[in-house]
Amino acid sequence: MIELESPEAVLFDFDGTLAPNLDLADMRRQVVDLTIAAGVPEEIYTGLYIIEVIEAGAAWLDKNNTAQATHYQHSANQRILELELNAAAATQVFPGVKNMLSQLRQRGISIGIVTRNCRAAIEAVFPDREQFVDAVHARDDVVHLKPDPRHLLCNLQALNARPNRSIMVGDGALDMQAGKALNMHCIGVLTGSNDSAALRNAGANQILTDCISLHDALR
Ligand SMILES: [Mg+2]
Repeated sequence: MIELESPEAVLFDFDGTLAPNLDLADMRRQVVDLTIAAGVPEEIYTGLYIIEVIEAGAAWLDKNNTAQATHYQHSANQRILELELNAAAATQVFPGVKNMLSQLRQRGISIGIVTRNCRAAIEAVFPDREQFVDAVHARDDVVHLKPDPRHLLCNLQALNARPNRSIMVGDGALDMQAGKALNMHCIGVLTGSNDSAALRNAGANQILTDCISLHDALR
């Protein structure tokens, strides 16, 4: 069990956790529309997260209609990038986030961000992140995205922190699943897409209303 007063690192999810959610539901709808239009059968992508919908769709097309696979993958990735950057342009980190991060750092805790958002979106929403965060691993920075724990491991390695001495904070079930797989202390926050029951079910050890209260919770 981690010494909660002095973790080596705290890893944060980005949208829904440090900043308001970018509109993922609409993004997924639009990608699904493109996937249907490309002729990919529904069972190929049902239940998958948005990036995995595109990967599964492109893999299926590659086997069945090679000519279309590249075009589909390119347009779908382009679409989510546009939607993400549009949403990011109108979004800022939650009030109090920068202060909370500074306080953690003053205690010698390393700070990471692990996100399925693209790097450009993080740069738009949190332009001065380098003053507050030690390592960012966005979608474009890793091969394996959470819930694959290797996404978090890349970040922990960059911070030189041990998983079982570190905390994962996020609003998503996949944040909790990835953290739990590494035996991290998982804190679910209610500022995004899940309620506390869903976060507990996904493996949260603790629930906070928002990440701003983290500094107090670690006292
Ligand atoms: Mg999130």
